[in-house]
Amino acid sequence: MHPSIEHSYARALPDLVAAARGESHPDARLVLLNEELATELGFDAEWLRSPEGIEFLLGHGEEFYAMAYAGYQFGQFNPRMGDGRALLLGEVVDGDGARWDLHAKGTGRTPFSRPGSDGRGTLRSMLREYLVSSALHALGVPTTRPLAVLSTGRKIQRQMVEPAGVIVRVAASHIRVGTVHYAQMVGEDTLRTLANVAIERHYPDLAAGDYTGLYESVMASQIRTVAAWQRLGFLHGVMNTDNTTLTGETIDFGPCAFVETFDHDTVYSSIDTQGRYRFGHQPGILGWNLARLAESMLPLFDADPNEAVSFAQETINGFYNAFETEHHAQLAQALGLKPETSRELTTDLLAALPAHELTRTLAALRYGGDVPAGALAEWQQRYAAAAPAAPSETGPRVPVVIPRNLAVEAALRDAPTDMSQFLRLLDAVTHPFTPNDEFEAPSAPAQLEMYRTYCGT
Ligand code: AMP
Ligand code: MG
Repeated sequence: MHPSIEHSYARALPDLVAAARGESHPDARLVLLNEELATELGFDAEWLRSPEGIEFLLGHGEEFYAMAYAGYQFGQFNPRMGDGRALLLGEVVDGDGARWDLHAKGTGRTPFSRPGSDGRGTLRSMLREYLVSSALHALGVPTTRPLAVLSTGRKIQRQMVEPAGVIVRVAASHIRVGTVHYAQMVGEDTLRTLANVAIERHYPDLAAGDYTGLYESVMASQIRTVAAWQRLGFLHGVMNTDNTTLTGETIDFGPCAFVETFDHDTVYSSIDTQGRYRFGHQPGILGWNLARLAESMLPLFDADPNEAVSFAQETINGFYNAFETEHHAQLAQALGLKPETSRELTTDLLAALPAHELTRTLAALRYGGDVPAGALAEWQQRYAAAAPAAPSETGPRVPVVIPRNLAVEAALRDAPTDMSQFLRLLDAVTHPFTPNDEFEAPSAPAQLEMYRTYCGT
C-alpha cells in the first residue's frame, strides 16, 4: 500500500519542529501524480489516488510537523520564519536505503504562519513548480522533485481570484542554511545535533563530528548546483538563506524562470526591485549565504573562536575560485571539451554569449545548426580545432528544450480545466535533450519585456 512513514528528524530535533496538520478542504482532488517517483519511493500509485492517499498528501492524519527556520530575506534577518504554509509529512526510506522527506506546501496555517497570512497558495503556482522542478531534475540538476499536485476546491485572492492548490515535493531533506541559524539560536546542543543529522544523512563519508568537513561539503554541493543554474540559464529569483539547502538541492520555485538571453542583469521577480537576485548575481549571493552559514556554525568549527574564524575566512576566501573552476568545468564537459585544457575557450565563450540567445546558441554549437554570426564565428573555429568529444549520456549536457517563459504561461492558462498543453510541455521539458519542434523556439524578446514572476503565490 504505502511505505512506512518515519519521523527521525522530529525525534532527533524536537526544538526545530512544531506539530501541525493540514486544514480541511471543500473539494480536494488530485490533479497530477508523478507515478515514476511514487514507485521509486515504494508508494502504490493507486493508494495515493485513493481517498486515504489524498488525505495523507493533504496532511490530514496523526503526525505531521511544520519545520522551524530563520532566514535572511533580501539581506534582512528574520529570526522566526519556518513553514508558514507547509508540512513535513514524514520520511520514507527507498529500496536503496536512502531517506527522503515528503513535504506538502499550501496545506494551511501552522504555528509559524504570520498573522493575517492564509497558509495557502494558488494551484497555478503549484503546477508551475511541478513543471520547472521536473525540468531541472531531467537536466540533471539537484532539486526537490514533485510527487503530486492537488486542487483544494477553494478560491483565494492573489493578483486575481484563483483556485488554490497543494504540492507535495520530495527532497533528501529540507534542512536550510536558515535552519542552522535557527538551531544556533536555540543553543549549541541543538546546533550540534542538527549538524550530526546532516552528516549522517547527507555526507556519510565524513567522520562523526567533522563539522568543518560538513561545511566544505555543503559549499561543494551548492557550488555544483548553482554552477549548473548559470550554465543552463536558471534564474532562481529568491535566494534567501531559507531557500539554500545543505544538500545542494534547488528549493522554492516561487519567482524562478529560465533566462532566454544570457543577460546578467535579468530580473523577473516582481518584488526584486533592487535586482539583488538578478541572474549574474547568483554566484555572489551563494557566497554571501555560505558566509552566513559559516557564522552560525562557528561554535562547531573549533573550541578556540580565533581558530574557528580563521577556518571560516580561509574557506570563504576560496569560494570564488572554486565556483569559477566548477562553472568552467561543467561548461567544458557539456561541450565535450577537457576542463583542464579549455579554460581560455570557455572564458571567451562566456564573454561572447551575452549578446545571444543562450540555449539555442549552445545547442547550435554543440549539435550543429545556425550559430549566430559575429564574435562566435572565430570562437567556433577554435572549438572545432579542439576536437570536442561526441555528446555523452552522462555528466553535464547541453539541452535543446528548456521551459521557456511564454510556453510556461500558455501551459498554465487553461489548467487545470484543460491540462493538454501543460502535459505536452511537461513531456517536452522532461526530455530536454530530444529535439522538439513545438517547444524549442525562443520567445520573441519584445514579448518578454514585461515578463514578471511572483513569490509565494
Ligand atoms: P517563500 O517565499 O515560500 O520562501 O516563503 C517565505 C516565508 O513566508 C516562509 O516562512 C513561508 O512559510 C511564509 N509564507 C509564504 N506564503 C505564505 C502564506 N500564504 N501563508 C503563510 N505563510 C506564508
Ligand atoms: Mg522559502
